[in-house]
Amino acid sequence: MDLFADLEKIVKHNVSMAEHTWFRLGGPAKYFVEPTSEDELLEVVRRCHENNVPIYILGRGSNLLVADKGVDGVVLRLSNPCFNLIEFHGENTVRAGAGTDLSVLLGECARKGLSGLECVAGIPGTVGGAVKINAGGRFGDIGNVAQSVKLMDSSGYRFERTRPDIFFGYRMTNIMAKFILGAEFNMTPDDPEQIGRMIKEVWMLKKNTQPMNSRNAGCVFKNQRAISAGALIDKAGLKGTKIGGASISERHANFIVAQDGATSQDVLDLIEHVRRAVRDRFDMELELEIEVWQ
Ligand SMILES: Cc1cc2nc3c(=O)[nH]c(=O)nc-3n(C[C@H](O)[C@H](O)[C@H](O)COP(=O)(O)OP(=O)(O)OC[C@H]3O[C@@H](n4cnc5c(N)ncnc54)[C@H](O)[C@@H]3O)c2cc1C
Repeated sequence: MDLFADLEKIVKHNVSMAEHTWFRLGGPAKYFVEPTSEDELLEVVRRCHENNVPIYILGRGSNLLVADKGVDGVVLRLSNPCFNLIEFHGENTVRAGAGTDLSVLLGECARKGLSGLECVAGIPGTVGGAVKINAGGRFGDIGNVAQSVKLMDSSGYRFERTRPDIFFGYRMTNIMAKFILGAEFNMTPDDPEQIGRMIKEVWMLKKNTQPMNSRNAGCVFKNQRAISAGALIDKAGLKGTKIGGASISERHANFIVAQDGATSQDVLDLIEHVRRAVRDRFDMELELEIEVWQ
């Protein structure tokens, strides 16, 4: 049986993942699926489940390295507007679909005078991707204001989880369900101008300290308790180290930047090199913050 019979219009074949990741790296996805409704998504998930076809869910690909050989399965992207809806309820609640761009959500909240998400300013991802890893930084994390999440498991069962059942830690959550469909945020009413100033402050800090306009995936490694991974890499003398077309950023040592001609394997080799050097020098094990699909 054809896995996607009657669903051909939402399926593309052998789509280069380099077109869909911030690293601009990665081989082809066997199937690239963009459902146009939640029921269509459910149908895709059910068929893949019944036929043991793995699904990888993609946001903006800004925290992701895909192997050069590509993805032998389905890459699913919630790009259709039906997954990008933003709704305001009552005085301080906002709900957003998983495919919503963080910058769009942040802009809408600022206009409405709702504070709480300024900490994600400048993070180039979707609501789904950000909730999945509790994205954030020195000004806070998205989990601080997440009140509930709408989920679907790999068999297609849809359900919701609310605080205190959901837990957000440093770049992690206890959400085990495969698909995040949306989230509800508990915001605080504030002056739109003040919110705008805060967004600018967070954004400027990122702009001044990170190589935001290059091909990268944000911080590669998680910080170690009180020590930043960037400081460890810097102290190990690794800034500027290059393997093939991948190099450690001179601006921020926890960023790997891809140049023309880079491969995913170059990035993986550089990651291994950094880990070994930090282990040898400080007896510490660096844990990946980025996701690797290989
Ligand atoms: C220049 C730059 C700066 C960055 N700065 C920061 C920062 O300050 N703080 C920070 O935390 N991160 C930062 N990042 C990393 C990244 O932007 C965030 O982690 C972002 O939240 C990833 O979202 P995404 O939609 O692109 O997810 P992707 O990269 O597409 O996916 C990441 C993971 O989330 C999963 N995922 C995506 N959508 C869903 C969904 N709907 N349901 C379930 N799982 C899903 C994917 O399967 C994958 O495992 C930065 C990245 C760049 C390139």
